[in-house]
Amino acid sequence: MSAIDTLPPLRQVIATHGLSAKKALGQNFLLDLNLTAKIARQAGDLTGCDVLEVGPGPGGLTRGLLAEGARRVLAVERDARCLPALAEIAEAYPGRLSVIEGDALKVDVLAHLAPPVRIVSNLPYNVGTELLVRWLTPEVWPPFWQSLTLMFQREVAERIVAAPGDKAYGRLSILAQWRCDARIVMDLPPEAFTPPPKVRSAVVHLTQRDAPRAPADPAVLSRVVAAAFGQRRKMLRASLRGLAPDIETRISAAGLDPTARAETVSIEGFCALARELAG
Ligand code: SAM
Repeated sequence: MSAIDTLPPLRQVIATHGLSAKKALGQNFLLDLNLTAKIARQAGDLTGCDVLEVGPGPGGLTRGLLAEGARRVLAVERDARCLPALAEIAEAYPGRLSVIEGDALKVDVLAHLAPPVRIVSNLPYNVGTELLVRWLTPEVWPPFWQSLTLMFQREVAERIVAAPGDKAYGRLSILAQWRCDARIVMDLPPEAFTPPPKVRSAVVHLTQRDAPRAPADPAVLSRVVAAAFGQRRKMLRASLRGLAPDIETRISAAGLDPTARAETVSIEGFCALARELAG
């Protein structure tokens, strides 16, 4: 049992509130409060920060975030069964936890957050990548958040941090690393969760870079990268053919080899090509 707070152990919370895990909601709970406090610490100094948590479930990570000093936690949870357990946490930390019942893909959280904001979540696997992509592609940059500390399936975490030439390198790597620094900060085996998922998990920490790795128009870069990895085994001159009539010349003008394949091209290389095509 952990002493991070005076609330009951999570197994007891789950039994009291009948929170049997639902697969359809991606419910794999973390019940070790020392572990959830450790995840919260990976997010950096939380004091003075609002924290957005998607999918608090019975509140293990929520308690870690509050115990680690978050100024306020805004938690968005889709499963109404979790609300009474979260209300008990809110009572133990007066004025510091707000819970919105709803789908994180639909709820507008901005009105409820004050900067600086950090996002820390053990994400439901079914919506995790979509939420990450949204947080990485706001209409204006810098985004409303200062850092993202997120649990994913290990395979997704590897795609986020992959370098050119890695098997996992692709659109998600470029999207994540163009304007952020991204690294895996924790690795968790299935047994860390209740019930245990089939795969390993990992926590990725992303922080905004002061400047993007190279300048580019986000929409053009996104088009180039989508086309290049849409047919990743083809040479660039073939996969990008639809983007410009003189694509081979443009690829060369960007300093790239038209016969190269997408998985070997650096983020800076894709940015150079995006600038060339935008120009
Ligand atoms: N944070 C808890 C923990 O670490 O033990 C639970 C994590 S569990 C992997 C994912 C949580 O996200 C579940 O509580 C689930 O009900 C919730 N969830 C699933 N889909 C959601 C959605 N679209 N919006 C908000 N919460 C969602």
